[in-house]
Amino acid sequence: MQKIIVVPGDGIGPEVTEEAVTTLQALGADLEFTFLDQINADRYLRDGVALTDSELELIRTGGTVLFGAVGDPRVTTPDYARGVLLRLRTELDLFVNYRPAVLLDERLSPLRDESRRGIDCVVVRENTEGLYSGVGGSLRAGTPDEIAVDQEMSTYLGVSRVIEYAYGIARRSVCMVDKSNAVRFGGQLWQRVWRAARERHTEVASSHLYVDAAAMKLITDAPSFDVIVTNNSYGDILSDLTAELAGGLGTAASANINPQTGAGLYEPVHGSAPDIVGKGLANPAGAVLSAALLLRDRGLKSEAEALEQAVRHTLAQRRCTPDLGGTLSTRQAGEAIRAALS
Ligand code: ATP
Repeated sequence: MQKIIVVPGDGIGPEVTEEAVTTLQALGADLEFTFLDQINADRYLRDGVALTDSELELIRTGGTVLFGAVGDPRVTTPDYARGVLLRLRTELDLFVNYRPAVLLDERLSPLRDESRRGIDCVVVRENTEGLYSGVGGSLRAGTPDEIAVDQEMSTYLGVSRVIEYAYGIARRSVCMVDKSNAVRFGGQLWQRVWRAARERHTEVASSHLYVDAAAMKLITDAPSFDVIVTNNSYGDILSDLTAELAGGLGTAASANINPQTGAGLYEPVHGSAPDIVGKGLANPAGAVLSAALLLRDRGLKSEAEALEQAVRHTLAQRRCTPDLGGTLSTRQAGEAIRAALS
């Protein structure tokens, strides 16, 4: 029996998560779901609570979370999103954000030149440090003399373990991405740790790019990438780029994991998308493919493959939502994926 804690969250999160859960149930695997629907912006606005300690403990004990999205236009401070998602990433020490990008169907590539389209890579994003660590402060806030400082934090432990993970999953190559020509101290740390890892892993081809050059090369030569390892903010941005190259934000899946403890939080790369909430426009593919990542990590490989193939099949037949050129609603797209399972 695999226990899964479901946190649908906000915006289109509940819409796509419902399709992912129904699709998991259709697999007939031995899965048990616990729903934490109360974690959402409504509660935060009402009670000022993002995530309670008992919810955190339940998640910590369960260890496997299927997540929708957090975010709501009515919430104007970052405290809510930080209090849910960043807190879970930090408290469960989910130091790897694994974001695969595989072209799901030729017609979905935004690139004109066919030879540049075949993206099949993984962005391994450091998930607990960097610019999002919350270190910083402000002076004279709200005045014309305001000073705001957000510090980018990199630790030897954090950088070492994520680079080691990247080499561990590489099929062909690892490209380390930083901005060490401009970011002095963290840049040197990433460089030093990566060079040592490169020496240990001579079976894997190693390369380095500055983040601006990496963005360019992803457009001009995406097929040359296998594993990209980078820090929290560059990984955030580059993985939206790879998601678009692979078929669109609506199809992109991710896993927040700690490979040492086995804890994992699986979520689509997209956010709450407030502009399309309640309209049946949300593509459930990213949520379903995130569920596939969860199954794979829990040793249910054939079930994970069944989900992935079902998504590919429906996309090839244009049985999908309007973001990918289809005419189906969120529910209908989920039903099409489930029909393709059998
Ligand atoms: P958040 O602040 O929660 O990240 P956001 O609107 O800034 O939300 P996303 O939710 O990632 O960012 O989405 C950006 C846009 O992409 C959305 O406004 C929406 O139009 C589109 N989009 C995102 N996810 C999907 C999806 N699953 N299906 C269809 N369109 C989507």
